[in-house]
Order: sequence, then structure tokens, then C-alpha cells
Amino acid sequence: MDPIWLLALLPLAVISGWLAAWRTHSHVQRGSLPAPMSETYYRSINFLANDQHDQALDVLAKALEDYDESLEIQLALGTLFRRRGEIERATQIHQSLIARPGLSRDQKSEVLFELASDYFKAGMLDRSENLLLELGVGDGFREPALRLLIQIYESGKEWERAIAAAGHLDRLTPETWGPVIAQYHCELGERDLSGGDYRAAKARADNALKLNRNCARAVILRGRLDALAGSHRQAVKTWMGLCDDHPEMLHEVAGLVRASSESLGQQEVYAEFLKQAVEASSDERLHLLLVDHFSGQGRTEDAEMQLLSWVEEKASLSGLHRLLEIRVDREPGSTSERDYQLVRKVTGKLLADRVGYECRFCGFQGKSLHWQCPGCRHWDTTAPRVATLKLS
Ligand SMILES: [Zn+2]
Repeated sequence: MDPIWLLALLPLAVISGWLAAWRTHSHVQRGSLPAPMSETYYRSINFLANDQHDQALDVLAKALEDYDESLEIQLALGTLFRRRGEIERATQIHQSLIARPGLSRDQKSEVLFELASDYFKAGMLDRSENLLLELGVGDGFREPALRLLIQIYESGKEWERAIAAAGHLDRLTPETWGPVIAQYHCELGERDLSGGDYRAAKARADNALKLNRNCARAVILRGRLDALAGSHRQAVKTWMGLCDDHPEMLHEVAGLVRASSESLGQQEVYAEFLKQAVEASSDERLHLLLVDHFSGQGRTEDAEMQLLSWVEEKASLSGLHRLLEIRVDREPGSTSERDYQLVRKVTGKLLADRVGYECRFCGFQGKSLHWQCPGCRHWDTTAPRVATLKLS
């Protein structure tokens, strides 16, 4: 289990758990708590919500002197121990509670969910899953149980089960889970493709597109399958579909388009793709590929003209950097060359700090594209940072 993921999700899960607990208690036992006991309960929630663990522990320890059998106090203590990383103590409390006779259905569900959360935190995912599956339809803790199950299935790459759990949540809540389920189908499709089962992979890509017709990952997968079937022209057409809805993803397929163009023996297909991609996207890497393409064909004047108009129009730092590289190569040993070298060093350093990908949800930055953000675990939220590089 990724510790960053746990750290990011834990406060949300705990607060959600508390809110769920509060809802359950206010529903099941409204008015049944003695006044001092209610006060203790809400004060401890308040301390926990504000990450004041020591204060919460003080309040609960005092309450235990008078209400040591209280389910609320025991649950609060269990949550507190889990949040402090004392999983064994949390688990002991919840295990003793589950064995307590006379629990209502809601109370039993709550304790089961808490115990499952302990196991999840301890990395005992099978045990956690088994308990969560006991929380059935109509149960007050069904929704948080499904959310935790999805985390378990994602971490184990059990995509079929993740699809089923997310499908339940889609029906149970107003949230739309289609785009996430589409990503699960893409995971399976890529697995099928790696295993050589192109037919199954195509079915997965089609399923993903049915759930989310704008799923860039599914479009890329479809194009790859077209190319593998030898339909390179269709593959390029499929990838060009990204121009409309996902121009930020065009750079991801540029290498694939180039390979298909080479298979067709038609370099102009690649050049045309790059021209249209540059029109559709502000991604500066595509400009650089077009410049590289011109240079590779010996069209150095076209390459330089492309760069000059681009730098003048967009004040592009990466364009300027490439222009300096051309000038350095052209005037070796001259005074100008040394000046160009110096400026290029500066632009290179500025660029090095700013390339890569960034999650628009949590700001996680990485060198490569992740379909699921390693920081916040959201799907399809990372985009290239290079697209926004400008001098002004
Ligand atoms: Zn993120």
C-alpha cells in the first residue's frame, strides 16, 4: 500500500467515519445519551477532527472513568488509536466490541466497518475485504464500505472486482462513476494487449468508450489495436480524434503516429499529424517534434523559421532554447557561440525545473504520465506541465 495514498486519504476517511457515526447515533440513539456523555462525545470528535489527538485522548480517558461500557467512547478510542498508528490497540477494542451481545444492526455495522478499517490500515487487505463484504444492501455503512473495497481492489489490481464495486456505488450514490470504471476497463484492456489477446483488449476499449466517450486512454488503446492489426491509416485517424477533446494527450501518441507513418512509408502522414496537433494544442513539445521532423529531413531553414515564428508569437522558453541550440551548432568557435552557450545554459536550467506532469487535483508532480495519480489516487487528473511554459 502506498503510504502517500494512506496519508492523503486517512483524514478524509476518519472524518467521514465520524460523520457517519454521528449520523447513525443521532438516528438510532437520539436523546438516549446522558448530557455529559453527549458533550464528551462531541468534544472528542471536535479534537479528532482538528488533529488534536492528545486532547481527544484526555477527554476520552476522563469519560472512561464514568462510562467505561459506552459504545460511543469505545468507538472513539478505537478510532483515536488507529489514527495515532496504534493499530493493535484499535483492533483489540473493535474485536471486543463485535463480540458484545445486544448490539443493534447499525451498531454492529459500525463496529464491523471500524474493524475493517483497522485491518486496512494494517495492510491486512483480505481480512478487511471479508468484513466489508458483510456490510450488505440497505446497510448504513454500505457506501463507505464500497469506497474502502475499491481502494483494496485498486491496490491489488483486481479490476473486475473494482468494476463491480464502483458499479454498486454508481447506483447507490448521485456520483458518476462511469469515467473511473472506464479506466478499470482500460487497465484490463492493456493487460489483454500485453497478453496478446487483441480481441479482448478491443472489447475493453469499446466498453470504456461506452462509459466515457471522451476517455483519452481508451482512444489511445483503440489506435494501438488498429496499428497492431495493420490498419495504420485508421490508427492515425483514431489518434487524431484526440485533437477535439484531449489535445493535451496528442504528444503521448506522437511516437505511435510516427511509427505508423513509417510502416505506411509515408512520412508526410506524421508531418500532417504534427501540424494539426500544433494547431489544436498549446503543448510546446509538439512544436519541438515538428522542428525535429524538419531538421531530420534536412530542412534546416524550415525548422528555424518554425522556431522563430513560434518564439516571436508565443514567447516560448523551450522554443528559444532550441533556437539557441541551432545557433550554437551553426557558429562553432565564435564569440556568439559562447554567448549562445551561456544563455542556453540558463534556459536549460529553467526548463529542467518545469517539465513533467502535474495532477490538477492535488498538485502531485512527476516525470511520467500516471493515469491514476500516485498522490491523491484520482484517475485521469494528470496533465503535462510543459504546455504552459512561457516567458511572459
Ligand atoms: Zn493527485
